[in-house]
Amino acid sequence: MAIAEQVIKPDFEARKRHFIFTDEHEQLRESVRSFALRELAPHAEEWEETTFPDWVFRRMGELGFLGLSYPEEYGGQGGDYYSNLVLAEEIGHANSGGLAMGIAVHTDMATPPIFKFGTEEQKQRYLVPSIKGEKISCLGITEPDAGSDVAGIKTRALRDGDDWVINGSKVYITNGTRADYIVLVTKTDPDAGYDGFTLFLVDTDTPGFIVEKKLEKLGMHASDTALLAFDDMRVPGDAVLGEVGKGFYHIMWELQGERMIGAAGCVAGAQRVFDRTLKYALERKAFGREIGHFQVIRHKFAEMATKIEAARQLVYTTAWRFQNGEYPVREISIAKLFAARIAVEVADECIQIHGGAGYMKEYGVERAWRDLRLNRIGAGTDEVMLDVIGRSYGL
Ligand SMILES: Cc1cc2nc3c(=O)[nH]c(=O)nc-3n(C[C@H](O)[C@H](O)[C@H](O)COP(=O)(O)OP(=O)(O)OC[C@H]3O[C@@H](n4cnc5c(N)ncnc54)[C@H](O)[C@@H]3O)c2cc1C
Repeated sequence: MAIAEQVIKPDFEARKRHFIFTDEHEQLRESVRSFALRELAPHAEEWEETTFPDWVFRRMGELGFLGLSYPEEYGGQGGDYYSNLVLAEEIGHANSGGLAMGIAVHTDMATPPIFKFGTEEQKQRYLVPSIKGEKISCLGITEPDAGSDVAGIKTRALRDGDDWVINGSKVYITNGTRADYIVLVTKTDPDAGYDGFTLFLVDTDTPGFIVEKKLEKLGMHASDTALLAFDDMRVPGDAVLGEVGKGFYHIMWELQGERMIGAAGCVAGAQRVFDRTLKYALERKAFGREIGHFQVIRHKFAEMATKIEAARQLVYTTAWRFQNGEYPVREISIAKLFAARIAVEVADECIQIHGGAGYMKEYGVERAWRDLRLNRIGAGTDEVMLDVIGRSYGL
């Protein structure tokens, strides 16, 4: 062997794909990315003002993106859990955090409980059209008086003959102004502790379902967020999703998928704002050189890259456990906590590296920060994640 061939040099451009992904995932990655870049990203700025339109659901349904891991018999693609990660990562190329969230609520939050706990009739009625993008879903857990404390919700479902009558309200509901149905968490027996909750599938045109308000928010402007009220909303017995009295456990299961997909979105979001900022740091000059070549700035990138890579490995390894039949609540909480934190730290540092430009709308870095900031609150706050992790050690 020639001497030159024995010299091993680092190849920073060689990106070996992670072992959880196959060629099929990479093809999927390519198609989601090109769809997002071609059909969504050109509208991103406009949708910050108007919220993204409903046709996005139908178009993604046509392309098969709304049912990647659902079985083919329901119109899904029959893929594994990693396909959902690919979607969560690549849809970010739409350059619209709000859009990514609205879609994730549909694919990874509202529809999974229907697939997991629903009757065949419910799957045909809600899951199949949701996968086609013909029905839009939302998920109602949070209430004006209870968010982190899910068990403290007050929305009450009372049995009345074969029907149930529901009264109460939900707040901060993503897709809430446009959804065709809601996966609704209610209390059915206030004396039964954690066994007193029940999920319902409710059409939003049911009399008594009221969209009180579309809420204004810090970021995620392309998504709609609603305050909802239920006034003597009568639903039939077959609207119960899963088991009567087991809604709390059902929704805790749902939250694990929600946190996983949120964590994946955080890593992808952090990577994108990193990439954009790297480009800027190699172009912007101060004191006669590109700012990226100042050691202080170089080290900021090194710190950010380390955080992003650590979060990515946490997410992928936890997803691997999830895919392989484990229910790794502790690790999911760790991944969600860490990914959300570092995403916000990275976005904040990227604003700093941009200087005044980072504070301007034009560069999109401030929007990345505003959008990513939600992740330390939504799907369970940092403090709740810490509590879940701590309690998992019997503390
Ligand atoms: C843009 C957006 C979209 C959302 N979409 C949805 C949706 O589609 N569906 C839905 O159901 N919900 C949704 N949410 C709600 C979100 O999940 C809640 O906001 C979140 O769970 C926190 O609940 P909360 O707002 O009531 O805060 P609170 O529970 O009132 O918490 C306030 C503060 O107290 C802290 N705290 C609470 N309990 C503890 C504790 N035990 N120990 C230490 N600290 C604690 C919290 O960490 C937080 O800092 C959304 C929220 C936002 C902002």
